[in-house]
Amino acid sequence: MIELFAVRPQRGAVVHLHGPGYRPGVKTRSSDRVALCGAPVWPCSLDMPFDALLSPLADAVRWTSMAPSDTDPRPAWRWCRPCIGHALDLTGLVTEFLIAAAERQPQSTSSPP
Ligand SMILES: [Zn+2]
Repeated sequence: MIELFAVRPQRGAVVHLHGPGYRPGVKTRSSDRVALCGAPVWPCSLDMPFDALLSPLADAVRWTSMAPSDTDPRPAWRWCRPCIGHALDLTGLVTEFLIAAAERQPQSTSSPP
């Protein structure tokens, strides 16, 4: 399985995912500094090494589990939705996700239009 890292946002509030060597499409730049969704990933400072942007997923999950509060009013970071889709595919969790989503659907007695 590909090793996935969270990319600490340099600007904005979106947390992308990075998988070393993974390219989301044939048109993706040749640089390895790209998120799973194809967004370029660069440190905001030339002095900062690329690896300093990356964090293990287990640590990064805590970034997005904290809501803003009166004492820390920063807007909560959120996960990049396209990166999540790529990650589900890369980790073989698509079917598991779809089953879980289906179980959470409201019960309907009619067919879709
Ligand atoms: Zn992304």
